Amino acid sequence: MSTLAYIGLGANLGDARQTIAAAIDALRQSSGILTLKQAPLYSSDPVDAQGPSFINTVVAIDTTLEPLSLLDRLQAIEQEHGRERPYRNAPRTLDLDLLLYGTFAIETPRLSVPHPRMHQRAFVLRPLQDLSPALQLAQGSFATLLARCQDQKLDRLVN
Ligand code: ATP
Ligand code: CA
Ligand code: CA
Repeated sequence: MSTLAYIGLGANLGDARQTIAAAIDALRQSSGILTLKQAPLYSSDPVDAQGPSFINTVVAIDTTLEPLSLLDRLQAIEQEHGRERPYRNAPRTLDLDLLLYGTFAIETPRLSVPHPRMHQRAFVLRPLQDLSPALQLAQGSFATLLARCQDQKLDRLVN
């Protein structure tokens, strides 16, 4: 049995587009990830952070990995791309967040799902809506949630 999960990707150091593309390839090639569908790319200004614009997108996967195994895989891919955590919200070469794992709610020291801040972030909501317009988040519809993030600059990139 597999589970439909959503992963948010962000990068704002180095060749961010290339890093996102490489991370998606690595996810595709991961054992336990059966299918992968990618949303369009967006560019966003950093939230509560310094540094260049972010490249963001979201992918939907069908996976047989358990949530913590999936998180291990995401963190390994981040490490392969030189991710460091010098301080909170520091610029980063690659950030992979597990947004949703089926309809499960998970609360452990390493993992909170649904991702507790996703509903406040246009750079998550827009690509998620592109992939799954009918998806209902616990906090409200895409229209309602996006209306609250109108001050967040977000541009869809042409491929
Ligand atoms: P934010 O979570 O607000 O987007 P961030 O992505 O910058 O911030 P990180 O430094 O990448 O935060 O991650 C800090 C820790 O968050 C990780 O070590 C991980 O164990 C934990 N974590 C909790 N829930 C999740 C989740 N849903 N996806 C990814 N990491 C998570
Ligand atoms: Ca994040
Ligand atoms: Ca993260």
